[in-house]
Amino acid sequence: LYCRGEVWWSGDRYLYLYCKMQVVQRARETFLTRRSRPLEFRVQQLKSLQRMITDRQGEIATYDTPLLELIGLENEISLAVSKLAQWDAPRPVEKSLLTISDQVYIQPEPLGVVLIIGAWNYPWALTLQPLVGAIAAGNAAVVKPSELSEYSASLLKALLPRYLDQELYPVVCGGVSETQELLRQRFDHIFYTGNSTVGKLVMEAAARHLTPVTLELGGKSPCYIDKDVDLRVACRRITWGKFVNCGQTCIAPDYILCEPSIQNRVVEGIRQTLLEFYGPDPKSSPDYGRIINQRHFNRVMALLDGYTAALGGQSDSSQRYIAPTVVKDVPPYARLMQEEIFGPLLPIVTISDVDDAIHFISEREKPLAIYVFSSNKKVIKRMLAETTSGGVTVNDVMMHYTLNSLPFGGVGQSGTGRYHGKHTFDQFSHHRACLVKSLGMERVNMPRYPPQNHQKARR
Ligand code: NAD
Repeated sequence: LYCRGEVWWSGDRYLYLYCKMQVVQRARETFLTRRSRPLEFRVQQLKSLQRMITDRQGEIATYDTPLLELIGLENEISLAVSKLAQWDAPRPVEKSLLTISDQVYIQPEPLGVVLIIGAWNYPWALTLQPLVGAIAAGNAAVVKPSELSEYSASLLKALLPRYLDQELYPVVCGGVSETQELLRQRFDHIFYTGNSTVGKLVMEAAARHLTPVTLELGGKSPCYIDKDVDLRVACRRITWGKFVNCGQTCIAPDYILCEPSIQNRVVEGIRQTLLEFYGPDPKSSPDYGRIINQRHFNRVMALLDGYTAALGGQSDSSQRYIAPTVVKDVPPYARLMQEEIFGPLLPIVTISDVDDAIHFISEREKPLAIYVFSSNKKVIKRMLAETTSGGVTVNDVMMHYTLNSLPFGGVGQSGTGRYHGKHTFDQFSHHRACLVKSLGMERVNMPRYPPQNHQKARR
């Protein structure tokens, strides 16, 4: 029996899990020493994380990591480094007459030990972007990458302790049972990215300790195409957003809503764009991805059962390859329209007009994102005013995600809480209400002390 890192090697599962609990305990003890609190320490850790990405970019981007993921991450780190002093400063607020000579302000302070549970589809961004905010806000953080992106998880586990404080920011690898074990521990915040079924389990586990949660979930993000748009441009943008990472993006346009009169032109626009992006055989294109595992491959293929594809439809189970696929005239309540697709299938549902589109969207769960393509200002205004979603991009897809000035997150079934840029710092901070009085001017306070005024008057 011996211990390496946080793991005891003996073949005894109980001891293995026991060591995972020790990791949380150690993070808490270290947090209580206040080591994570000084701004200089936080900046130094963030710069070290930046160095890890620069030094190890080659290894990190070997498998499942689009370079795009790392660029966003680096932007988040440099923003936090440059703005941290400003974000962490006390924020003076308006005073009342009774507190006119006092100091009244909001002081952000760390929550404590937080748990970050990442998903596999962008394994670095989905674990490290929250971690940037957790470090910036002065917390300790236990990072649990997804077991499905196995290479990234073990690389993260190997690299992070070489660059960051090992006690404050441990990485715990593992699948369902390890995550469930972690969830039995008490944390001060849980930040979870993944599907909503597990999101409910996370919230349930957190409720036992009254731990607040951020749930970054998914859902079906609609894409409305108005009949007056430049379809060439619209289709190019939509095709990029739908088929990048083989459709495995939480904010990918899930389905298209358009009038029947433009449906065939939309299909043709997507066909031309696919040719432009991936050539005549997407399977041999280095820019076209694969489905993460066999279970997800079977799930996505089952969604296609019973449909004739207008474009694509081919697959190869041995490579977990599914061609970029478009399906026309999908009935509103077909199986393809019941659950998030999370794969390269793009259904088109026809609607009669913009009212119908708004109605279609509004009678379903609130999506993570909505996309609207139109040159008509009135249509855009109505879509923005009469629908709701975590975020929205007009005349493009997914680009609202790239701005760290915008809060990113869901609403209703697509999630709760928000992050990116300062929003991540705020999410991992407690905003403490502070009122600092002097002991002078006691006369001003007399009216609030008993006996009450009428009794005082009677005396
Ligand atoms: P996943 O399978 O990697 O699971 C996510 C995490 O939950 C993993 O760390 C995993 O270990 C853990 N987990 C899985 N089952 C568990 C259980 N029973 N109990 C406790 N923990 C468990 O990822 P996924 O859920 O397949 O991810 C895809 C979903 O995530 C999609 O719905 C997608 O839209 C959503 N997503 C959302 C965002 C966002 O930012 N809102 C980003 C990426 C993905």
